[in-house]
Amino acid sequence: PDAAPLLHAKGVDAGYGTMQVLWGVDLDVRSGETVLLLGANGAGKTTFLKSLVGLIEARQGSITLGGEDVTRMRSSDRMRLGMTYMSELAVFPDLSIEENIRVGAQALGHANPGARAAELYGLFPVLREKRRAPASSLSGGQRKMLGIAKALAAEPRLLVMDEPSAGLSPLFVKEVIRILSDLRGRGLALLIAEQNIGFLEVATRVFVLEGGRIRFSGTVAEMTDNEALRRAYFGLK
Ligand code: ATP
Repeated sequence: PDAAPLLHAKGVDAGYGTMQVLWGVDLDVRSGETVLLLGANGAGKTTFLKSLVGLIEARQGSITLGGEDVTRMRSSDRMRLGMTYMSELAVFPDLSIEENIRVGAQALGHANPGARAAELYGLFPVLREKRRAPASSLSGGQRKMLGIAKALAAEPRLLVMDEPSAGLSPLFVKEVIRILSDLRGRGLALLIAEQNIGFLEVATRVFVLEGGRIRFSGTVAEMTDNEALRRAYFGLK
């Protein structure tokens, strides 16, 4: 087994102005693992992901990526170390599909973004057909796929995703889950913040965030064995 996790956050506090949102959050992701961060609206999932990728600063605690301390590192450097962030607003609507993918590849200084785009069209054939069209012309589901393709263009080791299901119909949520399990099969590590428990299907481990604190961490089986969590997240008795 790996000695050190790929990503390790320890005791992370973060917030906005005088409001503290996160309280001592611990979370780790191992190479190739799919970790789900569950929590209700306002639990602090987005705030935590932003502190991981360097869009806001952790006020306390530490974050390592591949064993390297990135706590005070800028976002672009964390990306160069292999961590890419896919927010809810992942694409530039005015740019074409291909331009969006190139932007993703260039974030890493990719030598040949065109070749990288061609590779990604293999994974997302619908994007190839529309590659010259503006991203705004895509359906919600297609736009999400473009967001994933754009993030993958940077060739991350760890893809950090904020609510990939947001705004999608159940059918497209299934499609996104299928794509993510395909990516998992290729050895990519995923950290997915979600409210949709459908994503448990692809997860190896789960962290539950409540009121800015980790309430639970464990395997999917351990979570479903926990009666209180089962009631809160599955509406079951
Ligand atoms: P959601 O599913 O709605 O994104 P979340 O779990 O991601 O929820 P956060 O977006 O991290 O939660 O929000 C946590 C708390 O921080 C909320 O009370 C929210 O109002 C507050 N908050 C988020 N962004 C800011 C900001 N830029 N300035 C001030 N407060 C913020």
